Amino acid sequence: MNRPLKTFYIRTYGCQMNELDTEIMAGQLLQRGLTQVENEGDADLLLFNTCSIRDLAERKVMGKIGQLGRTKKNRPYIGVTGCMAMAKKESLFKKLPNVDFVLGTNNITDLNSVIDEVLYTNGKALRTDSQFEENLDYLVAKRDDAIKAHVSIIRGCDKFCTYCVVPYTRGQEVSRPPEDIEKEVRMLADQGYKEICVLGQNVNSYGKDKPEWNCLFHDLLYRLDKIDGIERIRFMTSHPVDITKELMHAIADLPSLCEFVHFPIQAGSSRILRKMHRIYKKEEYLEKVALLREIVPNVSLGTDIIVGFPTETDAEFEETYQVMKDIRYSVAFMYAYSERQGTPAKRWKDDIPEEVKQERLQRLIDLHNSVCAEQRADMIGQTVEVLVEKKNREGKLKGRTRCWKKVIFDGDETMLGTLQNVRLHSFNHQTLLGELQGASLLV
Ligand code: SF4
Repeated sequence: MNRPLKTFYIRTYGCQMNELDTEIMAGQLLQRGLTQVENEGDADLLLFNTCSIRDLAERKVMGKIGQLGRTKKNRPYIGVTGCMAMAKKESLFKKLPNVDFVLGTNNITDLNSVIDEVLYTNGKALRTDSQFEENLDYLVAKRDDAIKAHVSIIRGCDKFCTYCVVPYTRGQEVSRPPEDIEKEVRMLADQGYKEICVLGQNVNSYGKDKPEWNCLFHDLLYRLDKIDGIERIRFMTSHPVDITKELMHAIADLPSLCEFVHFPIQAGSSRILRKMHRIYKKEEYLEKVALLREIVPNVSLGTDIIVGFPTETDAEFEETYQVMKDIRYSVAFMYAYSERQGTPAKRWKDDIPEEVKQERLQRLIDLHNSVCAEQRADMIGQTVEVLVEKKNREGKLKGRTRCWKKVIFDGDETMLGTLQNVRLHSFNHQTLLGELQGASLLV
């Protein structure tokens, strides 16, 4: 006899793409008539939307699901989705016998039919297509936030960096038709959303797979900027090679496009970049950053860095350190290299001792923290535009500047979802503190 299936709980690991996929899957399950619960112990269906980028993330989720199998008498249905589902496929059933279905990143459209298969056959189901078909109903997404929304514009990646599993777990790049994206953004604007973040593994590749659309990434941004009600547009994430002059001009020109670019260098040595298959040299990257700063003088930059890539010497690490010092990123995601199953880099010996990796990482973190503290100190006395996102536990309003800095100030709840001018007077840790200046910029 089938176990009951009335409630569900989704646990999400990893990037914003996964967060958006979770919102779409939650919408599909709500349409099916299930109720979303806050507590996983109350769920008849547990979905794990997983990440394969780091070994630790995989081990955590494997441990968690294994534990559920041991402790639950009347266990819930368990589904694994996301990149780990793609990387491990049917082997997951062997490792975790309590898993009922495995649904790949390119198959989330099939969620309800996979659940039906499990219910009707009382068996297990696997759906892991290697290529995404642009047939997903994004409009069904059950959004967790009422002010900011993620909007997918391209899925997959064609870059094949040697350390990365994404091209194997998410397949080739597939752009979404611009009319569909505009329709979704218009709908979000009508629902009162003020900020959208357009998402893709490499948004800058948008439209290259569909030359007949005549709509590249910057063209799409010009179209989205025209939609009334959306005050801010962000994008995540970029590959430096595809950051074009046209995109830089779009950032300078378009009122809604925020002056923040995630511009991930990954390493400061051209030899390591070649080994990573990043397809740019350090000098080319630096030239592009200089051009961007010339065209958009107030731009802030973010980056990703991997330290301790196989064969990275002390001198090569120093190049990374110097780039960080020179560019002064305002956001940095920094990691010590770890081997990933199924990536080309796995064939090289992971030869940098863990303590060396950790020491390099710590030096970068310390440098980044001191740069950010200096940047915050430089902002004191400035008046910045803040999109008010929430009230914190102390009853203060919290929001972000166009350049993604967190700001806290006193104000009332009616300001949620509005743009406010805030004069900065101090900062603590990672947050700027300020006070309201004059009238609201927009309701
Ligand atoms: S650009 Fe490189 S790091 Fe980014 S998703 Fe593609 S392969 Fe992975």
